[in-house]
Amino acid sequence: MEADTPPDVASSIFAKIASGQIPVQTVYEDDFVIAFPDITPVAPIHILVIPKVCIRDISCISQLTPAEAAGFLNGIAKTADVCGLGVGGFRTVMNTGVEGGQTVPYLHAHILGGRQLSWPPG
Ligand code: 5GP
Repeated sequence: MEADTPPDVASSIFAKIASGQIPVQTVYEDDFVIAFPDITPVAPIHILVIPKVCIRDISCISQLTPAEAAGFLNGIAKTADVCGLGVGGFRTVMNTGVEGGQTVPYLHAHILGGRQLSWPPG
């Protein structure tokens, strides 16, 4: 975990999942990410991918090393593949800040799939 991580990020539920304090049903894991089902799914497949390094959101991505940032993106692709979404397609969402609808202050990507998704989102 980063030494200068804000307290709300470091104490968030996803920080506890990333550190292994709170167990989850792991869908995919490697050196950079953990992926697990969203507790309130909004699509037939709704998986969250979090980096193991603790940062608030995508606007802070420069806090990650290039390898960590690439590992996060690769983890999203790997998770979608593991979930069988390669053929039908899927959506990746990273809500950011208040107006972006972010409710958990720890970087996470939603992977949504398993049905036809509409656009634009609400
Ligand atoms: P956000 O609104 O920040 O983009 O997304 C946070 C997501 O985390 C929500 O979709 C919410 O359902 C999910 N969530 C919140 N708490 C938990 C939890 O304890 N476990 C899991 N698996 N998902 C959670």
